[in-house]
Formats: sequence, structure tokens, C-alpha cells
Amino acid sequence: MKYKRILLKLSGEALMGSRQYGIDPERLAEYAEDIKVITDKGVEVAIVIGGGNIFRGLSGASNGMDRVQGDHMGMLATVINGLALQSALEDSGVPTRLQSAVHINQVAEPFIRRKAMRHLEKGRVVIFGGGTGNPYFTTDSAAVLRAIEIEADVILKGTRVDGIYNVDPEKDSKAIKFNTLSFEEVLSKGLKVMDTTAFTLSQENELPIIVFDMNKKGNLFRVVSGEKIGTEVNI
Ligand code: UDP
Repeated sequence: MKYKRILLKLSGEALMGSRQYGIDPERLAEYAEDIKVITDKGVEVAIVIGGGNIFRGLSGASNGMDRVQGDHMGMLATVINGLALQSALEDSGVPTRLQSAVHINQVAEPFIRRKAMRHLEKGRVVIFGGGTGNPYFTTDSAAVLRAIEIEADVILKGTRVDGIYNVDPEKDSKAIKFNTLSFEEVLSKGLKVMDTTAFTLSQENELPIIVFDMNKKGNLFRVVSGEKIGTEVNI
């Protein structure tokens, strides 16, 4: 395996599968199986999960809701997704811990860096819920932050497209995919990989990002074993 410790970022929307809202149990089970394959190979896996399938603070705000209130709802949505993913992973026989940045002690451990690293060393998948615990941030920022904190080798952004393109491939059939990009190139070409806060944090800490299609079975294993699928952003 090319990577020893990874941070996998899954968006909330990915959990919807073909649904319009909420969680698709089949999609969850597929993800759990893919994750099990790499944990069986000894890869240490931490996961940051989004909440967009349930609630986003920004969409609340666009309907007149207080932004901070909406962001709190979004953070709780990520905990709900974390619980669902934890359940699916444990059904597949993968030991897990859910740590939340928002204190919700009956439901999840609080985020404690040293504890998280210890869990990883013991072969447990650690799911980070609650984002960064602060409003006005995204789970992409949480993913980069946690990846740096736990000293992950790479951040893997599992999406439904197979990499970074010059234009949106879902809107333009002539879109061209990049295999590798430097952080500078992403900025100079105006490409969208993550929100600016998350991307800058990754760049400053020289943490590589690989964007790949998580919805194709076996792709997670391919990426972790070093196969060049998706797009890698590096220094
Ligand atoms: N959120 C937040 N702080 C964080 C992470 C998330 O306030 O550190 C809130 C925010 O409202 C966001 C929602 O949680 O819209 C869901 O997260 P995100 O939109 O990143 O989920 P994804 O797009 O990955 O599904």
C-alpha cells in the first residue's frame, strides 16, 4: 500500500445515492465494504463526513434563518451521518470510533487528537463528526484540519466524478481531466477542488489531495495502493 494513514472525506450528498435526501443504506454498505478492504491491508483510516444530504447552514440562511443556527444544524447533520456510517462499518466487521467536534457525549466521543491517533494505531476506523465545531466552516476544512492533526499521508476526497476537470464534466462533454496538478496550478487556473479556506490550509501544510470517484467499487483500494486514478494535487 502506498499510504499508511489516510483521511477520507465523504460528502453528505454522496450518502444519498440515487435519493434526493437522507441516507441510502445500500450506498453506505458499499462504502463500508470498500473501507474494509483497505483496513484489512493494514491502512489506518480516518473519515470526515459531510452533512449536505440533511442540512446546510448556507441554504438555511438563504431562507432567512440565522446563519450560526443553521450551521449548528449542519454540524449535527454530520454527526447523524457519522452514526450511520459507523453502524454500516461495524456491520461489515470493522471496529470504529466516532469522535465529534461538538460535545454530544452520550452519542460520540469528544474529539481528542491523541485518542484518535491511538484508535488508528489499534486498527480502528475513526470517524470525525461535527465538522470543525465552528460555524462558517465546511467539512472540507474539517477534513484538512484533522488530516494535518493526525499526520495523515494524504487526503482522499471521494466524489461522484473521477477527478478534477477544466470545466464541469457533468455539464460539458468536452471537459478535460487533469491527472496531476500543483496547488499553484489549481489557483492560477481557477479550478474548484475544495473551498478556499480548506485548500489554503492544505497547501500551507503541503498535504496532498487526491480527488477520485468513490462510487466505483474498488477505487478506494486502487488509490490507496498507488494506482493513478483521479487527480492528485501536490506541491
Ligand atoms: N458546518 C459548520 N462547521 C464545520 C463543518 C460544517 O458549520 O466545521 C455546517 C455547515 O452549515 C455546512 C454543514 O455543516 O453547510 C454540512 O457540512 P458540508 O456542507 O461541508 O457537508 P458536505 O457538503 O460535505 O455534505
